[in-house]
Amino acid sequence: MIPFLSLKDVTALHEPLITEAVSRVVNSGWYLQGQENERFEADYAAYIGTSHAVGCANGLDALIWIFRAYIEMGEMAPGDEVIVPANTFIATVMAITENGLVPVFVEPRRDTLEIDGDLIEARINSRTKAVCIVHLYGRNAYTEQIGRICKEYGLKLIEDNAQAHGCRTADGRRTGSLGDAAGHSFYPGKNLGALGDAGAVTTNDASLAETVRSLANYGSTRKYIFKYCGRNSRLDEIQAAVLDVKLSFLDEDNDRRRNIAHYYNTHINNPAVTLPALLPDPQNVYHLYPVLCERRDALAEHLKTAGIASLIHYPVPPHKQECYSEYSGLSLPVTEYIAAHELSLPIGPAISIEEAAQVVEAINAF
Ligand SMILES: *Cc1c(COP(=O)(O)O)cnc(C)c1O
Repeated sequence: MIPFLSLKDVTALHEPLITEAVSRVVNSGWYLQGQENERFEADYAAYIGTSHAVGCANGLDALIWIFRAYIEMGEMAPGDEVIVPANTFIATVMAITENGLVPVFVEPRRDTLEIDGDLIEARINSRTKAVCIVHLYGRNAYTEQIGRICKEYGLKLIEDNAQAHGCRTADGRRTGSLGDAAGHSFYPGKNLGALGDAGAVTTNDASLAETVRSLANYGSTRKYIFKYCGRNSRLDEIQAAVLDVKLSFLDEDNDRRRNIAHYYNTHINNPAVTLPALLPDPQNVYHLYPVLCERRDALAEHLKTAGIASLIHYPVPPHKQECYSEYSGLSLPVTEYIAAHELSLPIGPAISIEEAAQVVEAINAF
């Protein structure tokens, strides 16, 4: 059986360093807000190319804290609108609605599956405060057009970088450093994954970083002094230590993903299966390898029979979820098409070319 992603194999790639890092924290007697957080935050900020990285409990919180901080800083207010891709994981949208902000869904392009820059301007009005782009599937979703629109209309550009750690633009900048602030998830299955939940915010804005740090620690500005009603959303020392080890191998791990993706790109030749438009290398870290197929469920079944796992990202788009019933009447046909026809093939740093060859063989025989 070829699994979709074996986290056991992913962790094994960097043993014994991961276990050494965990033991170091276990034996230190210091489990929160210590040296491990400090080191990881400094290393991650340097890696992404921002002046600040602030660790927090998970990727959803990272995004929630960015919008909440802008509200506390007086830059946004409940009722303001945020433009967001309709084709994304639900967390992007929940970070907006959690803050009483209003998501304005914009369709993706059919070839890239990422937000369509041509459709953004028509959705801007006097209540629009931000554009939140998502580097979905590990692909860079930033374009000069989007950057220009945000500048022209004075909108914040927020990045959801949960799926794209290490991804770069054509000119070499890392995703997560392109806008005003970025939310990162270190959920175990992500390209940079912890051994549990973890997240971070990156930004060049010192006061935003300080506000996020405070909000994620009860809203405290110094011990027992509370400026905001925050929450406990801290990154723990064990996760920070593990993440710092894995960060040093992230580019190498992403190159392994690219090898598998290149193999799929050049060997899948079944006309029933559509591959996303290629984006040259630094701009894709292949968190997922999505394909489109008219007979998607039959393809998944065919792969399963061949001993190959696959997953759908995502079977129900945010606007069709029960929790967002107020948006269920929206017409977002491209997003709905993707939800009905997308299938993600196995990809990860621990998959071999031999396994990829089996996947290709099964796909081409469908
Ligand atoms: C995983 C993910 C998140 C949320 O991250 P968690 O750490 O699971 O809270 C947000 N946005 C996207 C696009 C994701 O894939």
